[in-house]
Amino acid sequence: MFDVAIVGAGVAGSVAAIALAPTHSVVLIDKQAEPSQRIGECLPPAARRILHRLDLLEAFNRQPHLPSQGMQSYWGSEHAQIVDHIRNPDGFGWHLDRQKFELFLRESAHQRGVECIWPARLVSSQDTDEYWDITLDTAHRVQAKFLMDAGGRQSPFARLQGIQREQTDKLIACWAMLPDDTQHRMAVLSATKTGWWYSASVPDNKRVIAFQTDSDQVNSEVKKDPDALIELALTCPAMARLLARLDDTSSVHGGVSAANSARLTQVAGYRWAALGDAALSFDPLSSQGMFNAMASAMQLVDLMQTGKNVALEYKRQIENIWQYYLIHKNTFYRQENRWKDSPFWKRRHQ
Ligand SMILES: Cc1cc2nc3c(=O)[nH]c(=O)nc-3n(C[C@H](O)[C@H](O)[C@H](O)COP(=O)(O)OP(=O)(O)OC[C@H]3O[C@@H](n4cnc5c(N)ncnc54)[C@H](O)[C@@H]3O)c2cc1C
Repeated sequence: MFDVAIVGAGVAGSVAAIALAPTHSVVLIDKQAEPSQRIGECLPPAARRILHRLDLLEAFNRQPHLPSQGMQSYWGSEHAQIVDHIRNPDGFGWHLDRQKFELFLRESAHQRGVECIWPARLVSSQDTDEYWDITLDTAHRVQAKFLMDAGGRQSPFARLQGIQREQTDKLIACWAMLPDDTQHRMAVLSATKTGWWYSASVPDNKRVIAFQTDSDQVNSEVKKDPDALIELALTCPAMARLLARLDDTSSVHGGVSAANSARLTQVAGYRWAALGDAALSFDPLSSQGMFNAMASAMQLVDLMQTGKNVALEYKRQIENIWQYYLIHKNTFYRQENRWKDSPFWKRRHQ
């Protein structure tokens, strides 16, 4: 019997496991044998505080992530606005090798005594009134007093309990990874009539380029073919300038990801809670998804240590974060007024 079972060993689940390890017996479960290559690489400077608190900062600094100097954005105007990290009290952020970062978190959890089970998918969970009896799609059967859903946008445990996710929009991200040996270390963001682009350099001389739009505002070729996406990127002046610096603009790989804002209608209950994207999924415009995953894990663990009514207090905190997030998101989208009649922007100005 474990004190806590965590479903999902992404950023949220691994950070929660590491934070709980000194005081609780923890089992961490993931359906993937190892983290996959995926989009989402900008880690804001404030994450340093959490890494420091978990005694991970030194080892993290030895990893080959790139420093992020800030953001150059073309939003509301064709002129660049630069927000750099130079005056940020937490220092620079990072452009991560996302796969290595997640692997590092998984390994840190394992080294600190967390029982790790992967690949294993949650199939069902039975509440026996004293503990959760968890069935996985492997031979494993796990029992735990508390269950955390850190399964990302699928919210696998909460969904099994019949809890719905509420979506505010239909944003998707079509992305491609390209070779890049330039030293351009600022992320670039640029609005266009049908959505917005961003690009950032990542370790191993690569660059990610992504187009965020509504699923009905982009043709299927761009969704299927990263090279068609790069063709479309050339119609955006800021992306065309970046691509012009590269020797080779053929994609290494790419994909399409859900990027809409969504939340679970109930984020905690008796002896369970959801964290990270399983609880709240943010628009990538915020660049805060991983930080929110880490912060919600720390909030939940802190509440469990206090012995307060975890579900009640945690629900209140997550609701506050969601309300602030919506205000910020709407404020940013409303600052772009150049294409008021285009469906993408009209939906965001309503
Ligand atoms: C286009 C795009 C760009 C983004 N860019 C950024 C960015 O620059 N910076 C940033 O901070 N954030 C960014 N994000 C958001 C960020 O990627 C997420 O917020 C973050 O991954 C959330 O972490 P998580 O651990 O909550 O969920 P996830 O990373 O989704 O992890 C969930 C884990 O649960 C496992 N799992 C799922 N179902 C089951 C099951 N049934 N059984 C067992 N295991 C299961 C999965 O395998 C996975 O490992 C971006 C998102 C998108 C879509």
